[in-house]
Amino acid sequence: RRTELSRLRELPSLSKDGKRVELAANIGKLDDIQRAIDNGAEGIGLFRTEFLYMGRSTLPTEEEQFTSYKYALEKMNPKPVVIRTLDIGGDKELPYMELPKESNPFLGQRALRLCLDRQDLFRTQLRALLRASRYGNLKIMFPMIAVLEELLEAKRLLEEEKQKLIAEGVELAEHIEIGMMIEIPAAAIAADLFAPEVDFFSIGTNDLVQYTMAADRMNETVAYLYQPWHPSLLRLIRFVIQAAEKEGKWVGMCGEMAGDATAIPLLLGLGLHEFSMSAGGILPARELISQLNQAEWSSHAVQALSMRSTKEITQFVEDTQKGVT
Ligand code: PEP
Ligand code: MG
Repeated sequence: RRTELSRLRELPSLSKDGKRVELAANIGKLDDIQRAIDNGAEGIGLFRTEFLYMGRSTLPTEEEQFTSYKYALEKMNPKPVVIRTLDIGGDKELPYMELPKESNPFLGQRALRLCLDRQDLFRTQLRALLRASRYGNLKIMFPMIAVLEELLEAKRLLEEEKQKLIAEGVELAEHIEIGMMIEIPAAAIAADLFAPEVDFFSIGTNDLVQYTMAADRMNETVAYLYQPWHPSLLRLIRFVIQAAEKEGKWVGMCGEMAGDATAIPLLLGLGLHEFSMSAGGILPARELISQLNQAEWSSHAVQALSMRSTKEITQFVEDTQKGVT
């Protein structure tokens, strides 16, 4: 089976009717890059930088970070690498930072919220990213944005560090795309307000589902409510893609849903441009997409959006794929 799929390794990801999408890998450590390449990744769609900060007793230096980012960019070059700025907090703790205990960590000072408060830490990461930018095709992505001011502040700090580096004579990439994750319902519902300010969105369904359904992604008791195909999620995803398209921006997805065989036909139909998943899912997804007609799934998606429940939607997708309906 693997050898059968391996013929797809070097091929572009095309639907049956010729629509091109990008299949990228999520990585959480540098070793994952080789696996991504071996599995035919067309880029890195989510580089979780938390690993640089975890399992140690001090913050990583600018130099350490620079070395890791440079390695990833060079290894993937000219393919894109979307590096996400630090997403600590929630369930991911950094004991050496002595962050205050919160009663609702997932609704607390997580990710960019912490970075905007601890600007020293954030600026160090931004400088390392900027310095690494000339070694490949870097795209920088900010996590956990709820309001426009957060995005503008993150961009302002990035621009400040960029100007400082330029003044120091450091060579940077000519253009670095800037994107944000859509993982908070407020950002999804207001995606049209964010779209003019970014080059791309990446939908983080792991969090978007938990926040939309108010169901902790780790809590088994409410797992029944954790429904990526619920009509509410499909509507949010559709709106985000439409809002981006109006501004000529691209949309990816880097939550688990992007690699799920039941979701892929609908996501393709909704016009998703980039699917980022664990490396092992890429070749099966490429094969699946090659068997799907994008134009047809676009109208199936419209039908799915009018359905009342996850059950109806998943049944519909299965039946349609089997050609039952
Ligand atoms: C997500 O929320 O979907 C996501 C990709 O980010 P993480 O799983 O790292 O929170
Ligand atoms: Mg997330």
